[in-house]
Amino acid sequence: MSTGKLILYPGNTTSSPPLVTSVIESLQQVGLIGQSLDNGQNSFLAGENFLQLITFMGCSPDVCLTPHSHAERDFCHLTILGPLPEPQLIWDNNCRPPRCPECKKPLSNWKQGVNNTSINCNICGTESALGDLNWGRGAGFSHIFIEIHNVFPGEAVPVDALFTQLQRDTGVSWRYFYTGPG
Ligand SMILES: [Zn+2]
Repeated sequence: MSTGKLILYPGNTTSSPPLVTSVIESLQQVGLIGQSLDNGQNSFLAGENFLQLITFMGCSPDVCLTPHSHAERDFCHLTILGPLPEPQLIWDNNCRPPRCPECKKPLSNWKQGVNNTSINCNICGTESALGDLNWGRGAGFSHIFIEIHNVFPGEAVPVDALFTQLQRDTGVSWRYFYTGPG
């Protein structure tokens, strides 16, 4: 059981996804990720600058950055997911419907489109590509995701400097969202 995830992703799926090696190098250099967890899944411990790059809200955030012997999965660690052969939507159960770019009404039927590449508005009929919709902080559509495990939604926010560095190193701009416990 995870308390939730903070997930970073490139906001533009029309350009080719960054190489996973360049993402890992960038994250290591900036100090967001540290030692590899060696599980063959591109998982890492939090790096030396993790708490400078991710701002935790609240007066006494309970951030556990190292594994416990009996609760190995409960600590904050990171996984690079992808690159996937096709971009995919990852969403939180509480994700609010994105709005139709044409008529501005909520796309209440959005879950029917998540396995396709587009959604048809059931009010005005406009077809929107998943990557063109504004998912807010409830979902992200991409080839590659940086998952930060055991972050409660809204509890932590990445600093601008992290996005500046990622963009410089990978050539694409990055965004973030949250998924809840599960
Ligand atoms: Zn519409």
